[in-house]
Amino acid sequence: MDKKEYQLGDVVQMKKPHPCGTNEMEIIRMGMDIRIKCVGCKHSVLVPRTKFESKLKKILRSSAVTEEESS
Ligand SMILES: [Zn+2]
Repeated sequence: MDKKEYQLGDVVQMKKPHPCGTNEMEIIRMGMDIRIKCVGCKHSVLVPRTKFESKLKKILRSSAVTEEESS
């Protein structure tokens, strides 16, 4: 089983699209809860990590590919 690996700045696709019709969310904060921002309407939501992982479909873009961060 593949473990989904995501990190801050990644753009992910959820199982259900946002009400605005966009299905791309950017991870803008990580912790106990994860804050994701809709790429389409810029609306952000805070979801518990477990809920986020269960709703996550796939990672579209990883920030690690384009940006190198040491922290
Ligand atoms: Zn939206």
